[in-house]
Amino acid sequence: MSAKHAVVIGAGVVGACTAIYLQRDGFRVTLIDKGAPGEGASLGNAGCFNASSVTPASMPGMLSQVPRWLLDPMGPLTIRWQYLPVIAPWLWRFVRAGRPERVAQIAAALRPMVGPTVGMHRELARAAGIEHLIHHVGHLHAYRSDEGFAKDAAAMALRQSQGVKIDELDFDELRQLEPDLDRGFIRARLISENGHCGDPLKLTVGYVEHVKRHGGTFRRALATGFKFDGAKATAVYTDQGDIAGDVFVVTGGAWSRKLAAALGDDVPLDTERGYHVVIKDPEVRPRTPTMSFEGKFVVTPMDMGLRAAGTAEFAGLEAPPNWARAEILVKQVQAMYPKLARDLPAERISRWMGFRPSMPDSLPVVCPASRTPNAFFAFGHGHVGLISAPMTGRLITDLIVGKTPTIDPTPYAATRFR
Ligand SMILES: Cc1cc2nc3c(=O)[nH]c(=O)nc-3n(C[C@H](O)[C@H](O)[C@H](O)COP(=O)(O)OP(=O)(O)OC[C@H]3O[C@@H](n4cnc5c(N)ncnc54)[C@H](O)[C@@H]3O)c2cc1C
Repeated sequence: MSAKHAVVIGAGVVGACTAIYLQRDGFRVTLIDKGAPGEGASLGNAGCFNASSVTPASMPGMLSQVPRWLLDPMGPLTIRWQYLPVIAPWLWRFVRAGRPERVAQIAAALRPMVGPTVGMHRELARAAGIEHLIHHVGHLHAYRSDEGFAKDAAAMALRQSQGVKIDELDFDELRQLEPDLDRGFIRARLISENGHCGDPLKLTVGYVEHVKRHGGTFRRALATGFKFDGAKATAVYTDQGDIAGDVFVVTGGAWSRKLAAALGDDVPLDTERGYHVVIKDPEVRPRTPTMSFEGKFVVTPMDMGLRAAGTAEFAGLEAPPNWARAEILVKQVQAMYPKLARDLPAERISRWMGFRPSMPDSLPVVCPASRTPNAFFAFGHGHVGLISAPMTGRLITDLIVGKTPTIDPTPYAATRFR
C-alpha cells in the first residue's frame, strides 16, 4: 500500500516540525509556502527556547498599564488607530483572558506545550545535522529597579506554579554572569532550563532540508482554498494549480484564518507585529539571552550578531512597517550594553518586522478541523511558536494517525471561543 500523502500548508517552524513528525509516522509529505521556507515569523524571532513561557500576553493588572504604554512612543505596545475597529473583538477576548483564574488555566495548558522544547529541538536538530544551532545556557530577566523586580513577581510565581525553577541574582552575581550589562541593572532572575537558537531561519531551513532528504517535497505556491468531495477535502487550490492529498494541515502562521474558514472554522486569529534589529560584529558578546523587564524586549546572542527583539503592534497584516519601532530597539540595546558603539554605521544594523500569529488567550490552535474530517490546524502560537513547534508537530501527527497524544489537546481546540 502506498504511503498516505499529507499536504502541510506553511513552511515556517511549525510546518517544518509537523512535516518531520508526519514523515516519521510514514506519510509522504508535501510542504507548500507562498515564499521561501522559514521567511515568515520564524525568520526574525528572538530565538528563545523558553520552556518557562507559560505566562499569557494578557496578565492580571496589565490593563492599568496599557494607556501609559500606548502614549509612550518608546513603549512596548502600540496600535494603529485605523485598525482598532477591526481588532476590537479580539482585544475584548484578550482582556477577558487576563482574569486570574483563566491565567492559571492558560499557564497549565502552555507548560506541556513549551516545557520539553530544548530537548525536542535538540533531537530534531541532531537528526537534521544542525545541532550546533541549539544552545542551553538559560535565560535572564534583568531589572533596573527593585520596583520592577517586585512587579514581575506575579509572573514568576505563575512560572513556579508550573514547576519552573528560578534563581535570583544580586548585583554582583549578575555582573559575574554578564559583565557587559549596563550597571543600571541591579538584579536579575535566571531560568536555567531555557535555551536559545543561534539562527532561527537556519533552523527552519535545516528542518525543511531534512524533510526533503527523506523524500518530502517543497513547493512554492500560494494556497487559496480547498476542493471537496462531500465533507472531505481532496486538494488544496493554489496559484500553481491544485495539490491533491489525503490529509491537509494548515500551518500558515498569522495568515491561517482564511484557510481555516475555508475548512469551516471561524477562529479569532490576529497578529501582534514585532520588530527586531541585529547588530553585527558587536563590541560585546553576552552569554545569556536577556530580557529587559523595563524595556520589554529581549537581547539574544546569535551567530549573525546581537539580536534585540520585541514590541507588539496591532496593525494587521497589510499596513507597512513603522521602522521607528526598530530604531527604538537600537537605542535600547545600546543603553543595555554601554560598550556597544554609539554611532553604529548603517551596514552594521539590520531591521526586520514580522507577524506573530496571535490568539487572544495566548494558546495555539492545534486540532482537527471541526467540519472537514481530513483537515487539521496547527497555528496561532503568538509569542511562543518557535518554542512550541516540536510539540505541536508531534501532537498534530498523533491526532492525525489516531494515537493517544502525549499531551492533552483539549485546551488548543479551535472551537473554544464559540
Ligand atoms: C519580534 C518577535 C520575537 C519573537 N520571539 C520568539 C521567541 O523568542 N520564541 C518563540 O517561541 N517565538 C517567538 N516569536 C514568535 C514566533 O516567531 C512565531 O510564533 C512562530 O515563528 C510562528 O511560526 P509559524 O510556523 O506558525 O508561522 P510563520 O513562521 O509565519 O510561517 C507561516 C508560513 O506560512 C506561509 N503561508 C501563510 N499562508 C499561506 C498560504 N495561503 N499559502 C502558502 N503559504 C502560506 C507563510 O509564507 C509562512 O512562511 C517571536 C515573534 C516576533 C515577531
